Amino acid sequence: MKKPVYLDYAATTPVDPVVADEMVKYLTQDGIFGNPASRTHSFGWQAEAAVENARRQVADLIHADPREIVWTSGATESDNLAIKGVAALHQNAHIVTSTVEHKAVIDTCHWLEQQGVEITWLNPGPDGRVAPEEVIEALQGNTVLVSLMLVNNELGCVTDIATIGEALRERGVLLHVDAAQAAGKLPVSVKTLKVDLLSLSAHKVYGPKGVGALYVRRAPEVRLEAQIHGGGHERGMRSGTLPTHQIVGMGRAFDVAGQCLEDEVIRLEELRQRFLSGLDQLEGVHFNGSEEQRVPGIVNLSFEGVEAESLMLGLRYLAVSSGSACASAAMEPSYVLRGIGVSDQLAHRALRFSFGRFTTEEEVDFACQQISEVVQRLRSLR
Ligand SMILES: *Cc1c(COP(=O)(O)O)cnc(C)c1O
Repeated sequence: MKKPVYLDYAATTPVDPVVADEMVKYLTQDGIFGNPASRTHSFGWQAEAAVENARRQVADLIHADPREIVWTSGATESDNLAIKGVAALHQNAHIVTSTVEHKAVIDTCHWLEQQGVEITWLNPGPDGRVAPEEVIEALQGNTVLVSLMLVNNELGCVTDIATIGEALRERGVLLHVDAAQAAGKLPVSVKTLKVDLLSLSAHKVYGPKGVGALYVRRAPEVRLEAQIHGGGHERGMRSGTLPTHQIVGMGRAFDVAGQCLEDEVIRLEELRQRFLSGLDQLEGVHFNGSEEQRVPGIVNLSFEGVEAESLMLGLRYLAVSSGSACASAAMEPSYVLRGIGVSDQLAHRALRFSFGRFTTEEEVDFACQQISEVVQRLRSLR
């Protein structure tokens, strides 16, 4: 069977071959397989050196100090550690977040709400971006944390975190940012964004699945209550033997991302333009999310008169995802599209196309041709 064209880079990315080559050197007997926490022999020292090198590579991409990087199993865990870790240190805490966050933030905040933490759920504008003024208005005397994403994973829109960060720092409220979809797609500096906590994932940036990091600001120090207890690794914030090969992979992937960033943004913007012009002739197509403040690799479109389900079935040579988070059999439309005011009908008709490092012009052209053909066929059947 012909392999479908992969247009779901926002869900995950393939590991870059140079990253995979690096990772295999940290597994077997002839490689550096030691426990990075072993202090008594060279096996441990070499593994520790590799972990620290990766820590610097990840820190460099976001202009942080390596000592501010805590390894986790992915952005989901980073989000949990940041939000629960801050909430646990306060009585009668209040947290501000939004209705279009990733489930890792939404479900964590829902859980805290059940534990008695007060949560304010902000609605973004139709462009998918939470307005800084709304964040400031939502602050209370007991607000300890604001948690907002930098790039939305369904829409690709970019939130004005720098303005929000500036305002929160003046007021002494901590800011956590989920940057899983931002790293490697736009310049991310914890200094200019003025964030205190920032979640990262390797597998959205051509690294391996199952590893991520949380940036935890050092000066002044942000204190967190650990969520996983054990050997006191990662300065007590996250216990567990460090997965050297995963960490080395994340470091190398972030290093490559930093080198490629400028060129990749330009190339993906060209592919995005090519994709949109390729669909120009097709009528009844709605663009979801901000057209200007966005990363180039994610395009969310609603097709009038065509259910996303049928469209995906028809597009069997394309690997895409529906805007709908179809967690239930009831096929609820995407809470993100709903959150920005897209009608239920158009939310049911939305697909997310996401491009990346290995997407070619030919693939984009093929996608446009397939989409046009299938949409027209499905419309003619009505
Ligand atoms: C993918 C993603 C996550 C989850 O990351 P994992 O490393 O898979 O746990 C969290 N937030 C956003 C915005 C994402 O895109």
